[in-house]
Formats: sequence, C-alpha cells, structure tokens
Amino acid sequence: MGQPSREVLERNWRLVEDRLQAACRRSGRQRQEVTLVAVTKSVAAQVACLLTELGAFDLGENRPQQLWSKAAVLPAAVRWHLIGHLQRNKIERSLPLVHLIHSVDSVRLLEALEQEAARQKRELRVFLEVNASGEASKHGFRPEEMPTLVPTISTLTHVHVVGLMTMAALQEPEKCRPTFARLRQLRDCLRTQLEPPHIVEHLSMGMSNDFEVAVEEGATHVRLGSVLFEGLDCAHA
Ligand SMILES: *Cc1c(COP(=O)(O)O)cnc(C)c1O
Repeated sequence: MGQPSREVLERNWRLVEDRLQAACRRSGRQRQEVTLVAVTKSVAAQVACLLTELGAFDLGENRPQQLWSKAAVLPAAVRWHLIGHLQRNKIERSLPLVHLIHSVDSVRLLEALEQEAARQKRELRVFLEVNASGEASKHGFRPEEMPTLVPTISTLTHVHVVGLMTMAALQEPEKCRPTFARLRQLRDCLRTQLEPPHIVEHLSMGMSNDFEVAVEEGATHVRLGSVLFEGLDCAHA
C-alpha cells in the first residue's frame, strides 16, 4: 500500500466532508447530527484500515462474511454497520460484531434477532429497511405495512428499533428527494406509535449518488462507498 492511496483517500474524505458540511448548512442542521458510514465492501481490508487512520471508525459492509473477515483484522474500535441482507443462519456470528444493523427487512428476521440477542444476553440496535422507492427489486418493508409492525416491535426487549433505512432508485439526485421525504414521514409516524426502548429517531439514507439531498431531507446516517474510493487503483479486494 503506497503513499498515493493514502493521499487519494484523504483528499476524497475531505471533499466528502466539505459536501456534508455544506448540505448541513443549507438545511440548518448540525454536522454532528449526521454519521458518515464508510462502506468498505469494494475495498480490501488494508484500504479500510487506512480509513481508521484518518479517524473514520463507522464502517459498513453489506455481506456478513465480509464484515466478519474485516472485523477480524481491523482495529477493535471500529463500529461495524451491517447494511445488507442478513440470512438467519448468519445471525449468531454477526451479533457480537455489529454496532448497528440497518437492513432488517422481515418480521421473521426481527424475531430471530430477538431470540439470539436474548440467548447472547445482548442489546441490539436495528433500523428497519423500507422499500420507499417502490422498486420491485428492492428488499424491505412496504411503506403501507409499517403500522402493522407496531405490535410485533412492542414485544421486543433485546432488539431495539431505533430508525429506518432506505435505498433510493439510482437516478438524478433531486428525483430521490420524494423517497427520502417519505422515509422521514414514516419515521415521524412510527415514532408516535412506539415506546422506549423503541425510539425511532434515525434515518439511514443517502449513498454516493444522492447523499446531499438525503441530508437535506433529514438523514442521520449516510452510507458512502464509491465517492470515497474514487481514483484508488488498488481498491479491490
Ligand atoms: C454499496 C452500498 C452503499 C454505498 O453505495 P455507493 O453508491 O458506493 O456509495 C450504501 N448502502 C448499501 C445498502 C450498499 O449496499
């Protein structure tokens, strides 16, 4: 890993940080309200490690196995965010490693997580993934089924539902705005129907293509991959 990689990464990181700050200013928000989750799925562990040297400790992976293997070699201070589909047979091994799961996409998974979290005597914070753009290809709950989840969520004691996540369709960023606004409205609604420890306050939305619009619409977590690793020639695992 030569010096150029580090320099490219550092420059990308600063540019993203500037864009995040500008989006916060435009929408009257504090920069600290938004967590940048660096999505390391397309880079080797060594590159992910460079991020931690820049002070980035919120890292995201969409595949549990990739998260396991990177967690084994990266500093223990990393907060791992699982942002992709989790199969139930990967719960047991993932739970001790994850800081937050953004991508809970079924009641079955929610219940399986509760059972395993109880067995491991852990508390687990999760976001529910919502298919707010309505694309057939996407995982996640349908917006109209959110109210029906309230009774199930209310029974959970180890799993705490603290936010919603969505992926917008890949298109002109401004066209993603209604998807993000919709997720915010769903959050506002669900929040009034639940009681602690289920404080539905977070919004995980915004990727490289559309994160500024997402911040303007209230994102508390943006998940950024390609914009951070642009121009790195040795990025791939
Ligand atoms: C890959 C991925 C991202 C990051 O996407 P980029 O467009 O590279 O920023 C964000 N969220 C999820 C769920 C992903 O799988």
